[in-house]
Order: sequence, then structure tokens, then C-alpha cells
Amino acid sequence: MERQLAVTLISPYKLALVGVGKIARDQHLPSIAENPAFALEAAVSRNANVEGIDNFKTFAELLENRPDISVVALCMPPSVRFQTAWDALSAGKHVLLEKPPGATLSEVETLTALAEKNGLSLYATWHSRHAIGVEPAKKWLAERDIRKLEIVWKEDVRRWHPNQPWIWQAGNAGVFDPGINALSILTEIMPHGIHLQSADLEFPANSETPIAATLKFFDPKGADISAEFDWRHEGKQTWDIFVQCADGEMRLADGGAKLYIDGALTVEGPDREYPIIYQRFAALLSRSEIDVDLAPLRHVADAFMLGRRTETEAFFE
Ligand code: NAP
Repeated sequence: MERQLAVTLISPYKLALVGVGKIARDQHLPSIAENPAFALEAAVSRNANVEGIDNFKTFAELLENRPDISVVALCMPPSVRFQTAWDALSAGKHVLLEKPPGATLSEVETLTALAEKNGLSLYATWHSRHAIGVEPAKKWLAERDIRKLEIVWKEDVRRWHPNQPWIWQAGNAGVFDPGINALSILTEIMPHGIHLQSADLEFPANSETPIAATLKFFDPKGADISAEFDWRHEGKQTWDIFVQCADGEMRLADGGAKLYIDGALTVEGPDREYPIIYQRFAALLSRSEIDVDLAPLRHVADAFMLGRRTETEAFFE
């Protein structure tokens, strides 16, 4: 009761959404609407309108017309996100970044330094880390002797990314766009550090980004750790992480939505990834804190540095 009173007494953060595409509509809008810590006041989109709030075509128009808005959530692709994030932090706004947080490690470090200097919150979100099976998987693995860990992330790009030409453009990482979700879980649940050892990347002849990738990691404790990402998969869509330990095995299935231990389904529940993101963002804002973990993006950057490249046949939607 007292907690409820405290929440209603604090005025909500006035928030603007920038980039009104699939993820903004599917997840950000409903998650903001259900969280009393936020009031959605404006959107910035070249093409879309969100009903009942101010809509602007450019971020500069938002800054000029709504200086009262203190928080922005950036939902455009990473290749075009940096300048807006920089302008927002320069104008004193707190910033939430969709995943991946940037096109390069360095640009996100630049943003982090600016947020620090200006005393602002910067939140690089990793939605898959909030899938219901991830925390229990991390606990289960914490004390175990891992022998083998295999990531299989295979989906049909035509089904999940229709009309998104940006995914084939440099700076947007291609198959690593979904693959980085797996890496965000991997870097969360691994009890110790690992690093990328080799990568094979397949680039369609007409694409600047890879359509498939196979990764191998070095584990100082000797486990065999690998990841396979493929966007050409038309069968059962698979977002699984299998782990074999000395005394049992686990499988995080459906992107972390289900956890199997020794073959038995032990955790399953509704998808609350984005509501949790906004709860966490409110907590960060209340203390003007920064949460930027670059570990998943570092593995992707390493894959581009180490990767052996093969050209495959041109890909058309
Ligand atoms: P999308 O549907 O293509 O939407 C992208 C949005 O960014 C659109 O609103 C778009 O423009 C805006 N934008 C601004 N400049 C752009 C440019 N030069 N090229 C393309 N778009 C531009 O993409 P999305 O699926 O929402 O993905 C956006 C981000 O969310 C990506 O980083 C992705 O990894 C992440 N994400 C996506 C999903 C998913 O299921 N789709 C899940 C989790 C995270 P206008 O509004 O101005 O037209």
C-alpha cells in the first residue's frame, strides 16, 4: 500500500519513442503503457504516427518542440542510432538503446563517456536476458563443471525480417542481429569468461552482412563451446542453448522461454522481457545510473575480426 502510494506520488518520466517499427509497436508501446513510471508523450518517425501523442519527423523537431521530455527510447537499427543517441545525451536526455546498442564497440563507449560526463542514464538493453529461463539457468550452471555448450539459433529471415532492407546493410550485423540475443544469454549465464577463437561467416553475393555464422570459443576451463546462426532455416525455428555438465544437462529453449533440466521442463512462463526492461530502466533513472554491458557486442566484433568469409549465392526476399 505504501509502495503504491509512493509510485503514484512521483510524477512519471516523460518519454519519447524514436523509430516506430516492429519492435516499438510489438513491445515498447505496450510495456511503456503498463508502467506507471513512464508517460509516453511523443514519437519520432519518418513514416509512422502513434495516436494520441505528439509525432515528429525528426529528432531535432522533438528537441525543439518538447524540451520537457527527459527520456528517449531509441528503437531504430544500430547503424543509424549513434547520432540520435549523441544528440539526446548532449541535450540532457536519458537514453535507452535497443539491442545491439551500436554499430561498433567504440561508438557505444563514446556514448557511455558522454552519459557519465552529463550525469545521465544510459541503458543498453538485452531483452533476451530477461527471458524467464535465463536466471534459473544461470543459477543451475553457477557451480557446475561445464563440458559442452552448443548454441543453435536457426530461423527463416523471410518470416522474421520482411521489408527490413537495413539488416543486409553494413553496421547492422546480418544474422548476428538475432544471434546477438543468444550471445547476450551466453554472456549472462556463463560462470566465467570465454573468448572467441574462430568464426566462419557466409555472405550472400548481394549482401554486406552475413546470412550464417559458425563460432567456436576458447574456454579456459576446457569446455567445448560453439554457436551456429543461420537465417536460411525454413523448418522448425530453433533458438536453443544446450549445455552438458559433468553431472547433468540443461536446454534453454525458445530463446530462453523454456528451461529443461535433464530432459524435464522445469521453467516456463509468459514473455515479460520488455516489461522487465522498463522496470529496470525506471530503477536506473531513479539513480541516474548507467547499464552498458558490451560483452555480447564484443563477441560479434571479434567474429568480424577473426571470421573466415565465404561468398554464397545471392539472397532475395
Ligand atoms: P523495423 O521494423 O525495420 O523498424 C525500424 C525503425 O527504425 C523504423 O521505425 C524506422 O523508420 C526507423 N529508422 C530510422 N532510420 C532508419 C533507417 N535508415 N533504416 C531503417 N529504419 C530506420 O525494425 P525493428 O524490427 O523494429 O528493429 C529495430 C531494432 O530493434 C533493431 O536494432 C533490432 O535488432 C531490435 N529488435 C527487433 C526485434 C524484432 O523482433 N523485430 C526484437 C528485438 C529487438 P521510420 O519509423 O522513421 O520509418
